[in-house]
Amino acid sequence: MLVYNTLHRTKEEFVPREIGKVSMYVCGVTPYDALHLGHVRTFLSYDMIRRYLERLGYEVRHVQNVTDIDDKIINRAKQLGVDPLDLARKYSDEALQDCDALGMRRAHEYPRVSVHMPEILEMIQSLVQKRAAYVRDGSVYFDVSRFPDYGQLSHQNTAEMQSSGRIEVDGSKDDPLDFALWKSSKPDEPRWDSPWGPGRPGWHVECSAMSLKYLQNGFDIHGGAVELQFPHHENEVAQSEAYTGSPPFVRYWLHGGVVFVDGKKMAKSLGNFITVQEILKQATPDALRMMFYSTHYRSPFDYSASRLEEAKAAWERMQLGMLNLRRDLGRETRSDGSPAASGYLADRAEDAERKFGRAMGDDFNTPIALAALFDLVSEANKYLAETAPSPSRSAEAAAAFIALERSLLVLGFAVVEGEGKHGEDQTALLLDLLVEIREKAREDKQFQLADAIRARLHEMEIVLEDHPDGTTWRRKN
Ligand SMILES: [Zn+2]
Repeated sequence: MLVYNTLHRTKEEFVPREIGKVSMYVCGVTPYDALHLGHVRTFLSYDMIRRYLERLGYEVRHVQNVTDIDDKIINRAKQLGVDPLDLARKYSDEALQDCDALGMRRAHEYPRVSVHMPEILEMIQSLVQKRAAYVRDGSVYFDVSRFPDYGQLSHQNTAEMQSSGRIEVDGSKDDPLDFALWKSSKPDEPRWDSPWGPGRPGWHVECSAMSLKYLQNGFDIHGGAVELQFPHHENEVAQSEAYTGSPPFVRYWLHGGVVFVDGKKMAKSLGNFITVQEILKQATPDALRMMFYSTHYRSPFDYSASRLEEAKAAWERMQLGMLNLRRDLGRETRSDGSPAASGYLADRAEDAERKFGRAMGDDFNTPIALAALFDLVSEANKYLAETAPSPSRSAEAAAAFIALERSLLVLGFAVVEGEGKHGEDQTALLLDLLVEIREKAREDKQFQLADAIRARLHEMEIVLEDHPDGTTWRRKN
């Protein structure tokens, strides 16, 4: 498998630190407001990457931090007259619920800065002792001149970094590029005791301290949005490698592209964002996956209402194709992962899965992977229209259905027929059962019961469709 590593600006063969295991740290939320589509894209990308690694058989350990101490949180809490940590808790809980609603796998750990002060202080103290950091008026700064490789991740020289507009201006620093590990707090701000006086940690040091605690030095994947490359991730590398003395801190740096709206980055500060709650009123999680995965995760994504509509239509095309196949599926082949089919459509299914796997193994190229699946849907629709029903046709349909289902599951789609939300597999199974009971009732000429089942399901917006070879259900559009 090839992955693009920002550290070397090239695609590299993926070799994890430990055979069969992958450790992955993703920079998480600074919870001071609702999640928006920009966050959704980032987190859906790492959800996809994790699912694919798990499909390959890796045991993935996924850690995603919560920056619950930050200027933005403190300022917002002041405006609202609430406690900053309470505010952070409220929005981080909401963010987790949003990610659940979007069907993302939960990280194994969500470490919060506020409860990792011992680890953070230990790291800063060690950097001071190693003279990689200096103390000024109750604050502590990392001394970039002590780390000759500074700039290696973002591939910039000193002048470029200084003119990037991303450097925090602070007269106490020896060099503009030096960055705060510990900030002395004003009296009305959250504060923790430290050897340098009361204060709070800088942003960058938390990710180093917490990733090293949960994943140890030299872990496999560090993810986050591309705008975190500099200075956040650059600083993480510098302080972590200065601290451990044994590079690399991270083997593969993976950065996801930004979401734009009308040429501008989607951001809270620009007011051009759409929250998860808003978007879920317009589209299902599957349609959102379709929208984002149609672009490579590292590329910029231009959001527009028409792109969302295109994605919804594409997902519907996929679902209809699968519905057609499923109608043709013999019930006995349904639970069997390898039906004996060896005709035209079964070959196409094999092709599609091969192309899908090749694309995913080439730096998670979801647009090409999805294109292979849509080609299979077209082939399947054509095949079903042109051939007469028969047991061998059913076996071919089963092969195509299974190929699609298996692949879509890797991308986290909820593929159960007619399903609009995740976590409804049980519902689908129960509906299948009801359809079976109704069919049995009809065979036994208990038409009253059969009609009652249909009527009750209709009230629940489930439509039953009788075909010569059986009955299927779908949700009303
Ligand atoms: Zn981070």
